[in-house]
Amino acid sequence: MNAYQKANSKLYLSVRNRLTRIFQPINIVPKDAKRKNQEILSRSQRLMLELGIIRQANPGSFHFLPLGVRALDKLLHIVDEEMLKIGAQKVIFPTLTHSKLWKSTGRLEDFGSELFTLTDRHNQMYILSPTHEEAVSDLIASVSQISYKEFPLKLYQTTNKYRDEIKPRFGLMRGRQFLMKDLYSFDIDLESAKHTYDEVCDCYNAIFTKIGVPFHKVMGSVGAMGGSLSHEYHYKADIGEDQLMRCSDCGLHANIDLVGRDKCSNCNSTNVTISNGIEVGHTFLLGDKYSKALKANYLNEKKKPISLQMGSYGLGLSRILAAVVEVLSQEEEMRWPLALAPYTAIIIPPKEGSKEEEAGYHLTERVCSLLETLPCLENNILLDDRIHFTIGRRIIDARRVGYPFIIVIGSKCMEQMPLFELVDLRRNTSINLNEEQLLLYF
Ligand code: ATP
Ligand code: MG
Ligand code: MG
Ligand code: MG
Repeated sequence: MNAYQKANSKLYLSVRNRLTRIFQPINIVPKDAKRKNQEILSRSQRLMLELGIIRQANPGSFHFLPLGVRALDKLLHIVDEEMLKIGAQKVIFPTLTHSKLWKSTGRLEDFGSELFTLTDRHNQMYILSPTHEEAVSDLIASVSQISYKEFPLKLYQTTNKYRDEIKPRFGLMRGRQFLMKDLYSFDIDLESAKHTYDEVCDCYNAIFTKIGVPFHKVMGSVGAMGGSLSHEYHYKADIGEDQLMRCSDCGLHANIDLVGRDKCSNCNSTNVTISNGIEVGHTFLLGDKYSKALKANYLNEKKKPISLQMGSYGLGLSRILAAVVEVLSQEEEMRWPLALAPYTAIIIPPKEGSKEEEAGYHLTERVCSLLETLPCLENNILLDDRIHFTIGRRIIDARRVGYPFIIVIGSKCMEQMPLFELVDLRRNTSINLNEEQLLLYF
């Protein structure tokens, strides 16, 4: 800590979250034209690297820095809340899955070189799991005598997944290690499995609605995962690596993997439009592909073992963070949906040595503690205590990181009825409010 930071650290001690206490290494990433290696960066990747949200460790793997973790925690909270509503139970499966499980479902070959594998000292081959259908089926198979009365069963986790992608790129968008929320459902027959599938799709709609960025649910192909029915959730963006087809005649919206791109697979119309999408979620009605291979059974009324009907549902949590930033941001300014912004509001007090400094100091402490009492702002106010910088400079920084609300305690704080400037980035407005009006704004 330098002398300056020391002096500052004595200020605003009553405020919980202060910018000088946050590890946020700022880092200028040259624009594409100036880059020596030809890798093209996506907007979200460049902004998140520059503004200390993430930092690259290896190709396709990243450190999440404190502001990034705050956004991620908010996303996890939304997911956990919605999972609870459908009675899904949180578990953690091991990262290592024995290769023999993958052999028995045929996926050791299907996944091929995308699998990260390793061999232990006993010459046993393991997989750094890219997904957990085998692991969860083996778990259920290991529990003998499960009665039909125990179903439907829904187990989910939020853990790192590992895939040796040919082309890791766009930062968190396509990592080789990434965070996925994966849910697996087990039912006693196809009809109830379809019911569970619909329920989980409704739950995913609720999650994406809470995140607050327009999303599209489209028909997907089951591919190597197998099963009979699949949907994908997408954010539309130019850099999206999937192509989506919408039929103007019958309304089908589908990944072109399912339908080709020239005509609609449902009604054969050529009246179709194509757009790019970022796949942020994927649901599968799997049937008994995994349960049969790995003997995940239940006992029916006559105590006869029957294969369970499964569903598998993935949400790319780290990809969602990059994708929402990609969709909402401007060229030089990051934007977050309100629900995921690392802090909802940032407060900028007067510069040290300015004539407003003293009045502003008391007002800042007061306003911070008042705003913290509002449920929507609790632990969500950040104070920019870099008072050696001008207010203007700190507003520029705050806009770049994209805190949805910027509250400036500036020249108008000396007036008899002190006024605060509130910059609302989502509405792109700036207004002066007194204390009461400020509190009512949230
Ligand atoms: P993609 O088509 O982009 O390769 P996928 O279809 O292989 O993705 P799934 O197996 O369906 O991915 O996994 C579920 C979710 O995990 C995806 O919808 C996506 O949001 C996320 N995901 C998949 N691969 C990655 C990755 N390499 N980096 C970040 N997120 C990923
Ligand atoms: Mg893939
Ligand atoms: Mg895909
Ligand atoms: Mg997929």
